[in-house]
Amino acid sequence: MDTMAKLRILSDAAKYDAACTSSGAQKTAKRGGIGSAEACGICHSFAGDGRCISLLKVLQTNVCVYDCAYCVNRRSNDARRAAFSPRELAELVIAFYRRNYIEGLFLSSGVAGSPDAATETMIETLRLLREEYRFSGYIHAKAIPGADAALVRRLGLLADRLSVNIELPSGQSLRRLAPDKTKAAILGPMSLIRGGLDENRRDLVRFRHAPRFAPAGQSTQMIVGATEESDRQILSLSSALYERYRLKRVFYSAYIPVNDAATLPPVGTPPPLWREHRLYQADWLLRFYGFSSEELFDKTEGRLHPYLDPKCHWALRHKELFPLEVNRAPYELLLRVPGVGVKSAWRITRARRAASLSWDALAKIGVVTKRARHFLIANGKRYFDAPVEKDALLLDLMSPRERALFHRETAPFRQLSLFDEETPALSPAERRELSCLAAPL
Ligand code: SF4
Repeated sequence: MDTMAKLRILSDAAKYDAACTSSGAQKTAKRGGIGSAEACGICHSFAGDGRCISLLKVLQTNVCVYDCAYCVNRRSNDARRAAFSPRELAELVIAFYRRNYIEGLFLSSGVAGSPDAATETMIETLRLLREEYRFSGYIHAKAIPGADAALVRRLGLLADRLSVNIELPSGQSLRRLAPDKTKAAILGPMSLIRGGLDENRRDLVRFRHAPRFAPAGQSTQMIVGATEESDRQILSLSSALYERYRLKRVFYSAYIPVNDAATLPPVGTPPPLWREHRLYQADWLLRFYGFSSEELFDKTEGRLHPYLDPKCHWALRHKELFPLEVNRAPYELLLRVPGVGVKSAWRITRARRAASLSWDALAKIGVVTKRARHFLIANGKRYFDAPVEKDALLLDLMSPRERALFHRETAPFRQLSLFDEETPALSPAERRELSCLAAPL
């Protein structure tokens, strides 16, 4: 099989990993034009400094001895198999890099033989890239659950970021759908990577030129919607992972049914994209806004609200705290106001030292007044045209694009728009979902 045929199979098999943020575009330069994007396996990710970089996202091999029910590469699937030799893949990466197709590599692998054997092959690919081809670009490598600690450590010294996919949100689901994997085999490498990161940080203080271990940290991915765990369970697991293993990111991947199995949603079921979207919003609140996972839910609730983002939903359930006087509210509470982000909360606390802030100043600072006007007062004054009627308030807090995303999964397809469209009135279903929430503040 030639290299391009292998690339087609192995980049296609890698596309279900959500750790990169988008799939590649298929386009080639027109005659006489310049610039092209290779169809196979080019995706994008964000570097630590916020730059969007293109990565070759590919598997070393899709041969796998495991049989995870949700995976297209499982051993019982009748899929075309392929494998890159380390040199073949290293040469391909360098050729793509020289042609300016990519800036880095995202490398994962099926478990060919054993976790150790698969990891050794990945290590050899990265060694060739780093040591023979002197490639210093970004490399994200997957650590395979069950691999030997020394191999994971070696992988971390060659890659910029490591990730171990936790895949399913509970031990019970893991036993049911991925019987070859155990919780201990997944958490073991995570804890090892955390130990390696801590040790490396100490070494770098003493020895400036010590080799760097996974300088971009570690991340993981969780599949959402393949099993019955609630959003509450998923977020409390994420929160524990951030705390214990100091992950940079948890990626949530809406389950795409690719296999027929009685234990899984049937093929053809749309992936729960609105749920994935809400989980990312909630995850953001855990990492940057000081929320705990429990605060995001009522005592009886297990899911995030379909129509309101988690911060608005929280604010409407805590009417007693609002409206806040923007010139006196502590930073921690400002962070909890819908329409106020981390940057604008910080700017408010700086600016109000010099002068008291009006609504005009808040808009200039970057506060989204359409949302914040329901929860803030400035110098004792409410925003001049804040609606007082409940429907108008709720519509102000709901994003038309998010409503469209939710309805696309529950009703016939509707095109999403880049621009906010005219807000349609509340539908009966939305009215039912929102009826228990606050009257105007
Ligand atoms: S180990 Fe990875 S590649 Fe193999 S079946 Fe499970 S998820 Fe798929």
